[in-house]
This record gives sequence, C-alpha cells and structure tokens, in this order.
Amino acid sequence: MLTNDELAKWDRENFMHPSTHLGQFARGEAAQRIVTGGEGVFITDRDGNRLLDGFAGLYCVNAGYGRHEISEAIAAQARELAYYHAYAGHGSEANITLARMVMERAPEGMARVYFGLGGSDANETNVKLVWYYNNVLNRPAKKKIISRWRGYHGSGLVTGSLTGLELFHRKFDLPLAQVVHTEAPYYYRRPDAGMSEQEFSAYCAERLEALILAEGPDTVAAFIGEPVLGTGGIVPPPAGYWQGIQSVLAKYDILLIVDEVVTGFGRLGTMFGSDRYGLKPDLITCAKGLTSAYAPLSATIVGQRVWDVLMRGNDEFGVLGHGWTYSAHPIGAAAGIANLRLIDELGLVRNAAETGAYLTQAMRAAVGDHAHVGEVRGEGMLCAVELVADRDARRFFPASEGRGAAVVGAMLRRGVIARAMPQGDIIGLAPPLCLSRAEADQIVAATAGAIEEVLG
Ligand code: PMP
Repeated sequence: MLTNDELAKWDRENFMHPSTHLGQFARGEAAQRIVTGGEGVFITDRDGNRLLDGFAGLYCVNAGYGRHEISEAIAAQARELAYYHAYAGHGSEANITLARMVMERAPEGMARVYFGLGGSDANETNVKLVWYYNNVLNRPAKKKIISRWRGYHGSGLVTGSLTGLELFHRKFDLPLAQVVHTEAPYYYRRPDAGMSEQEFSAYCAERLEALILAEGPDTVAAFIGEPVLGTGGIVPPPAGYWQGIQSVLAKYDILLIVDEVVTGFGRLGTMFGSDRYGLKPDLITCAKGLTSAYAPLSATIVGQRVWDVLMRGNDEFGVLGHGWTYSAHPIGAAAGIANLRLIDELGLVRNAAETGAYLTQAMRAAVGDHAHVGEVRGEGMLCAVELVADRDARRFFPASEGRGAAVVGAMLRRGVIARAMPQGDIIGLAPPLCLSRAEADQIVAATAGAIEEVLG
C-alpha cells in the first residue's frame, strides 16, 4: 500500500483537480485531503480524521454515506448489465423503472424524462430543447436565455454562461451572447433597506420585465432559476418572488427552466422546490440528489408544452439529434432507484424539513446576534451564515481578507466541513438529509466557536 506521502505526491504531480488553484496545489501550498470512506453524515480521511460533512460532498450525498442498499444495487446492476446505450429506443429494466419513479414524483404537468450525467449537461440539454422548440414553432429569433446574477447552472460553455458568478466567466470568454442576467432575489442585499419582501419581489419582477423589453420579447426564449439560490449564497426567495416572475414570463411567452439540481428529491423538505414555491416549470433540471451521488446521473424533466412541440418537430424534421453515450446509464439508474426508495423508507424529505428547520433556528439562536453576522437564513436542509464587517451598513469584509474561508478553516479544526460560498463571506451548510438533531447541534457549536475564534 502506498504511504500517505507517496499518494500526496502523486496527487500533486498528476492530477488536475476541478475548481482548485492549480499552482498552489502543485507546489503543495493548498489544502489536500485524501478521503477514504464515509458513514452517515461523516467522512474519514488518510490522516485519520473523522469529519461531519456539513455540505454532503457538494450538496449531493443526500441519503448519507455508506448506504449498502445503494452500493449493492450498483454492484448487482454492474454484474447483470453494466452498460447498454439508450439510443433508438433501447432501454434496460433499470432506466425504464427509474423513469417511471421520477415521473411519479415530478410536479404536475410534466411529460417525459431524459437522463444525462450531471447538472451541467442536463442544463445544456435544456437550452438545446428550448432552441429546438422555438425553431419548430418558426420563431428563430427567440433564443436568449435569462438567468440571474448569483445563479449557478454549471460550468460548461452555455451553462457556465448561465451561471451568474464572475469566477466562472473570468478568462473563459463567457458569458456567450445568447445569455443575459437579471437581478438576484437577494433580499438581504436589497437596494433600499426600507423595502418589504413583497416590494423587493415586485422590484425583481419589474427589473425582469424591463430587461425583456430592452432585449425584445421576440428574442427571449427562456428564464432559468434555482428555487433557492445555491452556490450564489444559499438565498431563499423573498415572499411573492416566484409569483411575480412567473406572471412576467407568461405575459411574454417565455419558458421557465427550474434548476432543481440541488433542490430536487427532498432538500427543501418537499420532493421538489417547485412544489415548495408553486412553480409551473416547462423544464426541470435534476442531478445530485437523484442518486445521492453514488453514481453520476442527471435528469431533464420535460413539461407537456415542450414535449408536444418536440413530438411535432420530430414528425416534421426527423430524429432529435441529441444524446450522450452514457445517457440513462444503467448503473446510474440502479443507484437512482435504490436511492429514491431509501429516501421514502427513511422519511428523508420530512427530516429535511424538520431537522433542517431545527438547524437554522439553532444557528440563529447561537450566532444571529453576533456583531459580524449579518444574517442567518435557511430553507429545508440548507442554511447560510452571512458574515459582514458592519451589520448596519450590511457591508462585506474586503474579499482579500478571506474571512469566510478562515471561519470554514476554524470549523474544520472543530471537525465540521462547511463551504465558503464563492462570492462574499457566506458560510454554507447543506448536510445529508439524514442529519440528526445531535449532529445539527455539533454543526452549530463548531460554527459558533469558529466565528468567535476568527471574528471575536
Ligand atoms: N445546477 C445547480 C443548481 C448546481 O448547484 C450545479 C452544481 N453545483 C449544477 C447545476 C451543475 O451540476 P454539475 O456540477 O453536476 O455539472
């Protein structure tokens, strides 16, 4: 067996890690952790640490680590039929069964599900379907997609463009011209402190309408948004936000893509975020929670309005020229089936609602009054603590001071993994949906201790 030092060296010398400072990592100056296993909400590493994973990997290991029900299903599928493609009407018992299970759980009005590999490719599919839709309807100019600043939708070419975070555009020549961004529904950072939530929601809807009119309604095809902003800061929408947005979209015949990569399959305490906020999506993006990340799999759920046009388009123009080799991979499908069953059996959607609410309340009680905590917010099993230099002015610390990262580092020394969200000093928490109250208490204690240590 390799020693820890050998493995760490091979890692630095061979492996280009995603979303990592390449130079610092290669020189041995950046964090490095070699993970060995996991059980429930805990992971272990080669240095002998056992850490409470307060971010469920990348908010994806929803069922928790070490679930034999899922790994056994994967092994059985690999033995029986590891792979066959799904082109030209081919399927397997696993992917057909999962399609049925997803559609049984999907919000009303959805017609079919298409499977890919991850959230980025599912959003890529969504954009292509939107363009195809408008071409079939003979509206070739109606192609722009509106996304929100601070939205996260992937890091491909079009999906990285949809993502409204500067880091994902920098030096990549993004965003592409067909993507435009509008206001984030970030009530804490509203332009006028006197605005109520309803007023701020109306303001966001007005800003969206003004953008549509400026771009030309005949050029705007779709709007994409996460029910709760995730990577952009874990920001639940203010009251009335989605109603306001949906009525503007209806007025200009613009499709709604709801990105449920984080919120799908229970994280908000409802099966979908669309259920939580009364959304009527034309397309839904799912990934992460679909398999609890035991295998890569994404789903694009297609609403009836789009489906009807896809059918018509195929009758007129032939086969839909869109597919990946690994679309609907049987191993991913087997993982998805076992995972969705487990979510039901363990009551994880309900636990996300109840223990999630407990986590946010306990966090608010512990750190909400701290001089450098601007806001504690949450929804279901998502919670964020926003750090500020000045509470009254709602002013961030200078980014160069790295306060959020320092707090996350101090939490790690207390045995809890959190995530410093990429824009602003926001401590993000998104634990597995099986979190217990005692484990929630452990997260809160680590956060409070770390904030005290770093910010006094
Ligand atoms: N959409 C949302 C809302 C996400 O949070 C993510 C990933 N964090 C993606 C899309 C992209 O998914 P993936 O990383 O699997 O490509």
